[in-house]
Amino acid sequence: MKFKLWQWLRRWRTAGAVKVLLPILIAPDKRLLTRCKVLHTVTSRIDKLAENMVETLHTSQGLGLAAPQVGQSVRLVVIDIGEGARILLNPVILERDGLCLSDEGCLSMPGVIRRKTRWHRITYRYFDLAGNRIEESVEGVFAIVLQHEIDHLNGVLIA
Ligand SMILES: [Zn+2]
Repeated sequence: MKFKLWQWLRRWRTAGAVKVLLPILIAPDKRLLTRCKVLHTVTSRIDKLAENMVETLHTSQGLGLAAPQVGQSVRLVVIDIGEGARILLNPVILERDGLCLSDEGCLSMPGVIRRKTRWHRITYRYFDLAGNRIEESVEGVFAIVLQHEIDHLNGVLIA
């Protein structure tokens, strides 16, 4: 019985108390213009950062959020286009195909919409929180959001 109670308490703490909303940096802010560092290991700090970024993304009702937007200069992005949150470490685009136009906003630039030229279809590689190296092809909204977030990791804003 004791063990079960402990398990329940642990789950409750994990589900509730750990999540934190992170303040989103607003342009102009130098931290949004720097190239972020590659992650070599997944520490508990990165684990927690990713979880808090997902929480912050959902609360902000954005489609994607990159670590530099919350003041962390590491190559970590979270994306949720309505299909569940994805956490991507060190994403790199390997192949690109088909240009399209995309009207984009940014959580770091409230009220601003800019028309960007993006690739419609991309093949990219990333690592998940478990350290698995994953390669996949995506197209449409997810591909566009990913390009926007990778721009953030390189210190590039939509305007
Ligand atoms: Zn943005």
